Amino acid sequence: MKNRGYYGDYGGAFLPEILVATFDELETAFEKIKNDPDFWKEYETLMSTYSCRATPLTFAQNLTREFGGAKIYIKREDLNHTGAHKANNVMGQGLLVKRMGKKRVIAETGAGQHGVATATMAAKFGFDCTIYMGEVDVLRQRPNVFWMEQLGATVVPVTDGTRILKDAINEAFRDWVTHMDTTHYVLGTACGPHPFPEMVSYFQSIIGKEARQQILAAEGKLPKRVYACVGGGSNAMGLFSGFFNDPVELVGVEAGGKGLDSGMHASRLKSKDASCGIAQGYKTYFLQDSDGQMKETSSISAGLDYVGVSPILSAMHDKGTARFESATDEEVIAALKLTMKKEGIIPALESAHAFAQAFKEAPTLSRQDVIIINQSGRGDKDIFTVADAVDDPKWKEFIIKKAKEYHA
Ligand SMILES: *Cc1c(COP(=O)(O)O)cnc(C)c1O
Repeated sequence: MKNRGYYGDYGGAFLPEILVATFDELETAFEKIKNDPDFWKEYETLMSTYSCRATPLTFAQNLTREFGGAKIYIKREDLNHTGAHKANNVMGQGLLVKRMGKKRVIAETGAGQHGVATATMAAKFGFDCTIYMGEVDVLRQRPNVFWMEQLGATVVPVTDGTRILKDAINEAFRDWVTHMDTTHYVLGTACGPHPFPEMVSYFQSIIGKEARQQILAAEGKLPKRVYACVGGGSNAMGLFSGFFNDPVELVGVEAGGKGLDSGMHASRLKSKDASCGIAQGYKTYFLQDSDGQMKETSSISAGLDYVGVSPILSAMHDKGTARFESATDEEVIAALKLTMKKEGIIPALESAHAFAQAFKEAPTLSRQDVIIINQSGRGDKDIFTVADAVDDPKWKEFIIKKAKEYHA
Protein backbone atom coordinates (compact mmCIF):
# COMPACT_ATOMS: atom_id res chain seq x y z
CA MET A 1 0.00 0.00 0.00
CA LYS A 2 2.66 2.52 1.09
CA ASN A 3 4.95 1.94 -1.89
CA ARG A 4 2.35 2.33 -4.60
CA GLY A 5 2.98 5.06 -7.07
CA TYR A 6 6.65 5.58 -6.23
CA TYR A 7 9.28 6.15 -8.88
CA GLY A 8 12.58 5.85 -7.08
CA ASP A 9 12.25 8.39 -4.29
CA TYR A 10 9.51 10.39 -5.99
CA GLY A 11 5.75 10.28 -6.29
CA GLY A 12 3.48 8.79 -3.67
CA ALA A 13 0.15 10.11 -2.46
CA PHE A 14 0.24 12.48 0.51
CA LEU A 15 -3.46 12.95 1.12
CA PRO A 16 -5.75 14.29 3.80
CA GLU A 17 -7.55 11.33 5.40
CA ILE A 18 -10.86 12.42 3.89
CA LEU A 19 -9.61 11.91 0.30
CA VAL A 20 -8.03 8.48 0.80
CA ALA A 21 -11.17 6.53 -0.10
CA THR A 22 -11.73 8.64 -3.24
CA PHE A 23 -8.19 7.99 -4.44
CA ASP A 24 -8.62 4.28 -3.72
CA GLU A 25 -11.79 4.30 -5.81
CA LEU A 26 -9.98 6.11 -8.63
CA GLU A 27 -7.04 3.74 -8.52
CA THR A 28 -9.33 0.71 -8.64
CA ALA A 29 -11.24 2.16 -11.61
CA PHE A 30 -7.99 2.95 -13.41
CA GLU A 31 -6.53 -0.54 -12.80
CA LYS A 32 -9.71 -1.99 -14.26
CA ILE A 33 -9.59 -0.04 -17.53
CA LYS A 34 -5.84 -0.60 -17.86
CA ASN A 35 -6.42 -4.35 -17.85
CA ASP A 36 -9.42 -4.15 -20.18
CA PRO A 37 -8.38 -4.33 -23.87
CA ASP A 38 -11.84 -3.05 -24.87
CA PHE A 39 -11.17 0.22 -23.05
CA TRP A 40 -8.13 1.10 -25.15
CA LYS A 41 -10.11 0.28 -28.32
CA GLU A 42 -12.96 2.52 -27.19
CA TYR A 43 -10.42 5.26 -26.40
CA GLU A 44 -8.75 4.97 -29.82
CA THR A 45 -12.10 5.04 -31.60
CA LEU A 46 -13.15 8.15 -29.67
CA MET A 47 -9.85 9.88 -30.40
CA SER A 48 -9.90 8.99 -34.10
CA THR A 49 -13.47 10.24 -34.57
CA TYR A 50 -13.32 13.32 -32.31
CA SER A 51 -9.68 14.38 -32.24
CA CYS A 52 -7.90 13.53 -35.53
CA ARG A 53 -5.91 10.56 -34.25
CA ALA A 54 -3.60 9.13 -35.38
CA THR A 55 -1.90 12.51 -35.64
CA PRO A 56 0.61 12.66 -38.51
CA LEU A 57 4.37 12.40 -38.27
CA THR A 58 5.63 15.11 -40.63
CA PHE A 59 9.05 15.00 -42.28
CA ALA A 60 10.49 18.52 -41.95
CA GLN A 61 12.46 18.54 -45.18
CA ASN A 62 13.32 22.23 -45.21
CA LEU A 63 14.48 22.34 -41.60
CA THR A 64 16.54 19.20 -42.22
CA ARG A 65 18.23 20.89 -45.17
CA GLU A 66 18.73 24.09 -43.13
CA PHE A 67 20.74 22.31 -40.43
CA GLY A 68 22.44 19.74 -42.67
CA GLY A 69 22.51 17.02 -40.00
CA ALA A 70 19.89 14.59 -38.69
CA LYS A 71 16.59 14.06 -40.52
CA ILE A 72 13.95 15.97 -38.53
CA TYR A 73 10.43 14.61 -38.04
CA ILE A 74 7.63 16.38 -36.18
CA LYS A 75 4.88 14.54 -34.27
CA ARG A 76 1.79 16.66 -34.82
CA GLU A 77 -0.10 16.81 -31.51
CA ASP A 78 -1.15 20.32 -32.58
CA LEU A 79 -3.71 18.68 -34.87
CA ASN A 80 -5.71 17.31 -31.93
CA HIS A 81 -9.13 18.81 -31.20
CA THR A 82 -8.58 21.94 -29.05
CA GLY A 83 -5.09 22.20 -30.49
CA ALA A 84 -2.85 20.19 -28.19
CA HIS A 85 -2.02 16.85 -26.61
CA LYS A 86 -4.21 17.84 -23.63
CA ALA A 87 -7.16 16.29 -25.49
CA ASN A 88 -5.62 12.82 -25.02
CA ASN A 89 -5.69 13.17 -21.25
CA VAL A 90 -9.10 14.80 -20.80
CA MET A 91 -10.93 12.44 -23.17
CA GLY A 92 -9.33 9.42 -21.49
CA GLN A 93 -10.38 10.69 -18.07
CA GLY A 94 -13.84 11.46 -19.48
CA LEU A 95 -14.33 7.81 -20.45
CA LEU A 96 -13.14 6.79 -17.00
CA VAL A 97 -15.61 9.17 -15.30
CA LYS A 98 -18.42 7.70 -17.38
CA ARG A 99 -17.47 4.21 -16.19
CA MET A 100 -17.32 5.40 -12.57
CA GLY A 101 -20.85 6.78 -12.96
CA LYS A 102 -19.97 10.32 -11.88
CA LYS A 103 -21.70 13.35 -13.36
CA ARG A 104 -19.50 16.31 -12.50
CA VAL A 105 -15.90 17.22 -13.28
CA ILE A 106 -13.64 19.91 -11.90
CA ALA A 107 -10.20 21.02 -13.03
CA GLU A 108 -7.48 23.53 -12.33
CA THR A 109 -6.02 25.62 -15.10
CA GLY A 110 -3.21 28.16 -15.37
CA ALA A 111 -3.01 29.39 -18.94
CA GLY A 112 -6.50 28.09 -19.59
CA GLN A 113 -5.64 25.40 -22.13
CA HIS A 114 -6.45 22.52 -19.79
CA GLY A 115 -9.62 24.35 -18.73
CA VAL A 116 -10.78 24.64 -22.34
CA ALA A 117 -9.96 20.97 -22.99
CA THR A 118 -11.85 19.85 -19.86
CA ALA A 119 -14.85 22.07 -20.66
CA THR A 120 -14.90 20.55 -24.17
CA MET A 121 -14.82 17.01 -22.78
CA ALA A 122 -17.58 17.85 -20.26
CA ALA A 123 -19.82 19.23 -23.02
CA LYS A 124 -19.28 16.11 -25.13
CA PHE A 125 -20.04 13.71 -22.24
CA GLY A 126 -22.80 15.82 -20.64
CA PHE A 127 -21.01 16.44 -17.33
CA ASP A 128 -21.35 19.52 -15.13
CA CYS A 129 -18.03 21.35 -15.16
CA THR A 130 -16.33 23.80 -12.81
CA ILE A 131 -12.89 25.22 -13.59
CA TYR A 132 -10.69 26.79 -10.90
CA MET A 133 -8.35 29.48 -12.10
CA GLY A 134 -6.23 32.00 -10.21
CA GLU A 135 -7.71 35.49 -10.44
CA VAL A 136 -4.50 36.82 -11.98
CA ASP A 137 -4.72 34.16 -14.71
CA VAL A 138 -8.42 34.88 -15.32
CA LEU A 139 -7.49 38.49 -16.02
CA ARG A 140 -4.62 37.70 -18.39
CA GLN A 141 -6.23 34.75 -20.24
CA ARG A 142 -9.57 36.25 -21.21
CA PRO A 143 -9.89 34.41 -24.59
CA ASN A 144 -9.65 30.99 -22.89
CA VAL A 145 -12.03 32.03 -20.08
CA PHE A 146 -14.47 33.20 -22.76
CA TRP A 147 -14.40 29.81 -24.50
CA MET A 148 -14.69 27.82 -21.26
CA GLU A 149 -17.85 29.75 -20.42
CA GLN A 150 -19.27 29.39 -23.94
CA LEU A 151 -18.65 25.62 -23.68
CA GLY A 152 -20.86 25.60 -20.58
CA ALA A 153 -18.31 25.53 -17.75
CA THR A 154 -18.39 27.67 -14.62
CA VAL A 155 -15.06 29.44 -14.18
CA VAL A 156 -14.24 30.27 -10.55
CA PRO A 157 -11.54 32.94 -10.04
CA VAL A 158 -9.41 31.96 -7.03
CA THR A 159 -8.46 34.90 -4.83
CA ASP A 160 -6.25 33.02 -2.30
CA GLY A 161 -2.48 33.31 -2.12
CA THR A 162 -0.74 34.70 -5.20
CA ARG A 163 -3.89 33.96 -7.25
CA ILE A 164 -2.20 31.73 -9.85
CA LEU A 165 -2.06 28.03 -10.80
CA LYS A 166 -0.93 26.57 -7.47
CA ASP A 167 -3.76 28.38 -5.67
CA ALA A 168 -6.24 27.04 -8.23
CA ILE A 169 -4.97 23.49 -7.55
CA ASN A 170 -5.53 23.93 -3.80
CA GLU A 171 -9.06 25.22 -4.43
CA ALA A 172 -9.86 22.29 -6.75
CA PHE A 173 -8.80 19.87 -4.00
CA ARG A 174 -11.03 21.72 -1.51
CA ASP A 175 -13.99 21.33 -3.87
CA TRP A 176 -13.22 17.64 -4.33
CA VAL A 177 -13.18 16.99 -0.59
CA THR A 178 -16.76 18.27 -0.30
CA HIS A 179 -18.15 16.63 -3.49
CA MET A 180 -16.28 13.33 -3.71
CA ASP A 181 -19.35 11.18 -4.41
CA THR A 182 -20.45 13.00 -7.54
CA THR A 183 -17.26 14.61 -8.77
CA HIS A 184 -14.03 13.67 -10.49
CA TYR A 185 -11.00 15.95 -10.49
CA VAL A 186 -9.48 16.00 -14.01
CA LEU A 187 -5.85 16.73 -13.20
CA GLY A 188 -4.08 18.24 -16.20
CA THR A 189 -0.62 16.75 -16.25
CA ALA A 190 1.54 13.82 -15.07
CA CYS A 191 1.87 15.28 -11.56
CA GLY A 192 -0.05 15.15 -8.30
CA PRO A 193 -0.76 12.20 -6.03
CA HIS A 194 -0.81 8.62 -7.31
CA PRO A 195 -2.49 7.43 -9.56
CA PHE A 196 -2.48 10.71 -11.55
CA PRO A 197 1.12 10.63 -12.84
CA GLU A 198 0.69 7.06 -14.07
CA MET A 199 -2.86 7.58 -15.34
CA VAL A 200 -2.17 10.76 -17.30
CA SER A 201 0.98 9.16 -18.78
CA TYR A 202 -1.10 6.14 -19.74
CA PHE A 203 -3.54 8.23 -21.79
CA GLN A 204 -0.69 10.24 -23.32
CA SER A 205 1.20 7.05 -24.27
CA ILE A 206 -0.89 7.06 -27.46
CA ILE A 207 1.60 9.68 -28.75
CA GLY A 208 4.64 7.43 -28.40
CA LYS A 209 2.85 4.30 -29.61
CA GLU A 210 1.89 6.05 -32.84
CA ALA A 211 5.23 7.83 -33.27
CA ARG A 212 7.20 4.58 -32.97
CA GLN A 213 5.08 2.84 -35.61
CA GLN A 214 5.13 5.87 -37.88
CA ILE A 215 8.90 6.35 -37.82
CA LEU A 216 9.50 2.64 -38.46
CA ALA A 217 7.12 2.84 -41.44
CA ALA A 218 8.79 6.00 -42.78
CA GLU A 219 12.46 5.24 -42.14
CA GLY A 220 12.64 1.53 -41.35
CA LYS A 221 14.53 2.35 -38.16
CA LEU A 222 14.24 3.97 -34.77
CA PRO A 223 15.13 7.61 -34.12
CA LYS A 224 18.42 8.45 -32.44
CA ARG A 225 16.83 11.06 -30.18
CA VAL A 226 13.33 12.31 -29.40
CA TYR A 227 12.56 15.77 -27.99
CA ALA A 228 9.64 17.04 -25.92
CA CYS A 229 9.05 20.15 -23.84
CA VAL A 230 8.49 19.62 -20.11
CA GLY A 231 5.91 21.55 -18.10
CA GLY A 232 4.28 19.06 -15.77
CA GLY A 233 5.67 16.40 -18.09
CA SER A 234 2.65 14.77 -19.74
CA ASN A 235 3.49 15.24 -23.42
CA ALA A 236 7.09 14.19 -22.70
CA MET A 237 5.92 11.05 -20.89
CA GLY A 238 3.56 10.33 -23.78
CA LEU A 239 6.28 10.48 -26.42
CA PHE A 240 9.07 8.93 -24.31
CA SER A 241 7.03 5.90 -23.24
CA GLY A 242 6.89 4.70 -26.83
CA PHE A 243 10.67 4.25 -26.71
CA PHE A 244 11.31 3.01 -23.16
CA ASN A 245 12.59 -0.35 -24.38
CA ASP A 246 14.63 1.05 -27.26
CA PRO A 247 18.14 2.48 -27.57
CA VAL A 248 16.69 5.95 -28.14
CA GLU A 249 17.88 9.02 -26.26
CA LEU A 250 15.01 10.86 -24.55
CA VAL A 251 15.48 14.62 -24.28
CA GLY A 252 13.17 16.78 -22.14
CA VAL A 253 13.35 20.55 -22.56
CA GLU A 254 12.34 22.90 -19.75
CA ALA A 255 11.61 26.61 -19.79
CA GLY A 256 14.91 28.47 -19.51
CA GLY A 257 13.11 31.82 -19.29
CA LYS A 258 15.64 34.65 -19.11
CA GLY A 259 18.47 32.13 -18.61
CA LEU A 260 19.26 29.61 -15.86
CA ASP A 261 21.68 32.03 -14.17
CA SER A 262 19.03 34.77 -13.94
CA GLY A 263 16.81 32.87 -11.51
CA MET A 264 13.95 33.77 -13.88
CA HIS A 265 13.05 30.39 -15.39
CA ALA A 266 10.97 27.28 -14.71
CA SER A 267 13.70 24.64 -14.84
CA ARG A 268 13.31 22.06 -12.09
CA LEU A 269 15.57 19.35 -13.47
CA LYS A 270 18.31 21.14 -15.43
CA SER A 271 18.90 24.11 -13.11
CA LYS A 272 20.36 23.92 -9.61
CA ASP A 273 17.49 25.96 -8.17
CA ALA A 274 15.12 23.09 -7.36
CA SER A 275 15.18 20.51 -4.59
CA CYS A 276 13.18 17.48 -3.55
CA GLY A 277 10.09 18.25 -1.51
CA ILE A 278 6.49 17.30 -0.82
CA ALA A 279 3.70 19.61 -1.93
CA GLN A 280 0.26 19.29 -3.51
CA GLY A 281 0.11 15.66 -2.45
CA TYR A 282 3.26 14.28 -4.05
CA LYS A 283 7.04 14.24 -3.83
CA THR A 284 9.22 15.62 -6.60
CA TYR A 285 11.71 18.36 -7.52
CA PHE A 286 10.16 21.72 -6.71
CA LEU A 287 11.50 25.22 -7.34
CA GLN A 288 11.56 26.20 -3.67
CA ASP A 289 13.79 28.01 -1.21
CA SER A 290 15.43 26.38 1.80
CA ASP A 291 12.28 27.01 3.88
CA GLY A 292 10.14 25.16 1.34
CA GLN A 293 8.56 28.39 0.04
CA MET A 294 7.78 28.02 -3.65
CA LYS A 295 9.79 30.35 -5.88
CA GLU A 296 8.45 32.59 -8.63
CA THR A 297 8.76 30.98 -12.04
CA SER A 298 9.17 32.74 -15.35
CA SER A 299 8.66 31.67 -18.95
CA ILE A 300 7.39 33.09 -22.20
CA SER A 301 5.12 30.03 -22.38
CA ALA A 302 2.39 29.84 -19.74
CA GLY A 303 2.13 26.05 -20.12
CA LEU A 304 5.68 25.35 -18.90
CA ASP A 305 5.50 27.76 -16.00
CA TYR A 306 5.05 25.37 -13.04
CA VAL A 307 7.05 24.84 -9.82
CA GLY A 308 6.83 21.02 -9.80
CA VAL A 309 7.42 18.29 -12.38
CA SER A 310 6.31 14.73 -12.97
CA PRO A 311 7.79 12.41 -10.30
CA ILE A 312 8.35 9.87 -13.10
CA LEU A 313 10.62 12.34 -14.90
CA SER A 314 12.39 13.25 -11.64
CA ALA A 315 13.29 9.57 -11.22
CA MET A 316 14.44 9.33 -14.84
CA HIS A 317 16.55 12.44 -14.32
CA ASP A 318 18.33 10.90 -11.31
CA LYS A 319 18.82 7.54 -13.04
CA GLY A 320 20.04 9.19 -16.23
CA THR A 321 17.46 7.43 -18.41
CA ALA A 322 16.43 10.77 -19.88
CA ARG A 323 18.44 13.93 -20.46
CA PHE A 324 17.05 17.34 -19.52
CA GLU A 325 17.95 20.64 -21.15
CA SER A 326 16.47 24.12 -21.22
CA ALA A 327 15.76 26.73 -23.86
CA THR A 328 15.55 30.46 -23.18
CA ASP A 329 12.66 32.71 -24.24
CA GLU A 330 14.90 34.22 -26.89
CA GLU A 331 15.91 30.85 -28.35
CA VAL A 332 12.26 29.82 -28.36
CA ILE A 333 11.13 32.84 -30.39
CA ALA A 334 13.95 32.24 -32.89
CA ALA A 335 12.98 28.55 -33.25
CA LEU A 336 9.31 29.50 -33.67
CA LYS A 337 10.09 32.04 -36.41
CA LEU A 338 12.29 29.59 -38.29
CA THR A 339 9.72 26.78 -38.14
CA MET A 340 6.95 29.05 -39.42
CA LYS A 341 9.03 30.32 -42.34
CA LYS A 342 10.59 26.99 -43.32
CA GLU A 343 7.75 24.55 -42.79
CA GLY A 344 4.51 26.56 -42.63
CA ILE A 345 3.92 25.14 -39.16
CA ILE A 346 3.17 27.25 -36.06
CA PRO A 347 4.28 25.45 -32.89
CA ALA A 348 2.92 26.50 -29.51
CA LEU A 349 5.49 28.47 -27.47
CA GLU A 350 5.68 25.43 -25.16
CA SER A 351 6.47 23.08 -28.06
CA ALA A 352 8.97 25.57 -29.50
CA HIS A 353 11.26 24.76 -26.54
CA ALA A 354 11.66 21.23 -27.90
CA PHE A 355 12.27 22.64 -31.38
CA ALA A 356 14.94 25.05 -30.05
CA GLN A 357 16.90 22.25 -28.37
CA ALA A 358 16.58 19.93 -31.38
CA PHE A 359 17.89 22.74 -33.60
CA LYS A 360 20.97 23.09 -31.36
CA GLU A 361 21.72 19.37 -31.70
CA ALA A 362 20.61 18.47 -35.26
CA PRO A 363 23.73 19.90 -36.99
CA THR A 364 26.00 17.80 -34.73
CA LEU A 365 24.32 14.54 -35.83
CA SER A 366 24.92 12.67 -39.09
CA ARG A 367 22.60 12.64 -42.12
CA GLN A 368 21.86 8.98 -41.36
CA ASP A 369 20.39 9.90 -37.97
CA VAL A 370 16.71 10.57 -37.44
CA ILE A 371 15.16 12.68 -34.67
CA ILE A 372 11.56 13.34 -33.65
CA ILE A 373 10.29 16.59 -32.11
CA ASN A 374 6.96 16.48 -30.32
CA GLN A 375 4.86 19.43 -31.36
CA SER A 376 2.63 19.36 -28.27
CA GLY A 377 0.32 22.11 -29.51
CA ARG A 378 -0.47 24.77 -32.08
CA GLY A 379 0.75 28.30 -31.71
CA ASP A 380 -2.14 30.44 -32.87
CA LYS A 381 -3.31 30.58 -29.23
CA ASP A 382 -0.11 32.56 -28.51
CA ILE A 383 -0.89 35.45 -30.85
CA PHE A 384 -0.86 38.07 -28.05
CA THR A 385 2.52 36.94 -26.66
CA VAL A 386 4.20 36.36 -30.02
CA ALA A 387 2.95 39.63 -31.52
CA ASP A 388 4.48 41.42 -28.49
CA ALA A 389 7.74 39.45 -28.75
CA VAL A 390 8.21 40.32 -32.43
CA ASP A 391 6.93 43.83 -31.70
CA ASP A 392 4.48 43.91 -34.61
CA PRO A 393 3.25 47.50 -35.08
CA LYS A 394 0.18 46.54 -37.14
CA TRP A 395 -1.02 44.22 -34.38
CA LYS A 396 -0.68 47.02 -31.81
CA GLU A 397 -2.66 49.33 -34.05
CA PHE A 398 -5.40 46.69 -34.34
CA ILE A 399 -5.66 46.21 -30.56
CA ILE A 400 -5.80 49.96 -29.93
CA LYS A 401 -8.47 50.40 -32.59
CA LYS A 402 -10.54 47.56 -31.10
CA ALA A 403 -10.28 49.06 -27.60
CA LYS A 404 -11.37 52.47 -28.92
CA GLU A 405 -14.46 50.91 -30.51
CA TYR A 406 -15.55 49.68 -27.06
CA HIS A 407 -15.01 53.12 -25.54
CA ALA A 408 -17.02 54.84 -28.24
C1 LIG B 1 -0.03 22.43 -21.27
C2 LIG B 1 0.90 22.36 -22.38
C3 LIG B 1 2.22 21.87 -22.21
C4 LIG B 1 2.80 21.49 -20.88
O1 LIG B 1 2.25 20.36 -20.28
P1 LIG B 1 2.99 18.96 -20.16
O2 LIG B 1 2.17 18.25 -19.14
O3 LIG B 1 4.40 19.18 -19.72
O4 LIG B 1 2.93 18.30 -21.48
C5 LIG B 1 3.02 21.76 -23.34
N1 LIG B 1 2.59 22.14 -24.56
C6 LIG B 1 1.35 22.62 -24.76
C7 LIG B 1 0.95 23.02 -26.14
C8 LIG B 1 0.47 22.74 -23.68
O5 LIG B 1 -0.76 23.24 -23.91
